Amino acid sequence: MKQFRNNVIRAGLGALYFTGVHHLLRPLFAGVGAIFMLHHVRPGREAEFQPNRHLEIAPEFLRAMLAHLRARDIDIITMDEAYRRLIERRFSQRFACFTLDDGYRDNRDYALPVMREFDAPFAVYVASDFAEGSGRLWWVALERIIAKASFVEVAIGGTASRLDTSTPAAKQAAFDRLHDWLRGLPAERDIQREIGALCARHGVDEGKVCRELCMSWGELKPFADDPLVTIGAHTITHCNLARQSEAIAAREMAVSRARIESALQRPAVHLAYPYGDKIAAGPREFALAHAAEFKTAVTTRPGMIFPESADHLTALPRVSLNGNYQEAHIPPVLTSGAATAMWNGFRRIDAA
Ligand SMILES: [Zn+2]
Repeated sequence: MKQFRNNVIRAGLGALYFTGVHHLLRPLFAGVGAIFMLHHVRPGREAEFQPNRHLEIAPEFLRAMLAHLRARDIDIITMDEAYRRLIERRFSQRFACFTLDDGYRDNRDYALPVMREFDAPFAVYVASDFAEGSGRLWWVALERIIAKASFVEVAIGGTASRLDTSTPAAKQAAFDRLHDWLRGLPAERDIQREIGALCARHGVDEGKVCRELCMSWGELKPFADDPLVTIGAHTITHCNLARQSEAIAAREMAVSRARIESALQRPAVHLAYPYGDKIAAGPREFALAHAAEFKTAVTTRPGMIFPESADHLTALPRVSLNGNYQEAHIPPVLTSGAATAMWNGFRRIDAA
């Protein structure tokens, strides 16, 4: 099903490009700028089963995107500068921001060198538990469990199920099912209990996943000292904030910021909501981020930045650089705004 959806999106993005419709829509939907969302930046792998592939792009695609923006004279700016332009309503020049979620080590090893080639600043949103080495990257743990297993037994909704994971297609189907089930569980501790049990049964070390992929505070310190780098907050535990009590959601924002500021000795005034979609960040979270005095907070809702985004600085949409769509015709479609406009039913603001 996911593959089908990917193919439909791919066909849609291709159609926008090959029909030239993205050029027609551009004056209406390109907005004043875009905030690009990335996770991993690293060379592609050969493995057939890569259910988290949408979360990683190759350095060459990042380079192509930056070259496209530079060729169109679009400013590449920091989140601080985007904030200033929005509140001062300075929109004579279109802009792009690059934001990378979670704090992966490949951001330093692969993204930073490419960003340097273009002298392009970017923000990395760090979940403080990930930097501590105690974070739970359950979606990666799930991938590793299924990659090595030929079947997985779980109780979904009280019913014991045995999922076939013996072929790449079966693995993908099992991943989709388990991923949706885990994200739908009522509390963070439910996800941790279920994934913890699966990890124990299948010999996957969840703590090792975090330390293997994420930068520690010791690594983040020199990284954050690079003039191109802004570090933002991404909560303590990478939880679904909308599922937490108001007090805990507020604490997740404030404490993660305080931990970053004390470990790195620099302000962390920008926030990204973990997961960032409608079931993880809504009006209550937007208000909490505003009350916590973050200058901006970004969602994963797709969209371009418009002048009226200045009224919704803690509900900013982004444009995903998705690992499933790295072909050469993608950058102009993304900067045209046509793809996100279609997604949003041609509404320019989605902050409800
Ligand atoms: Zn994240």
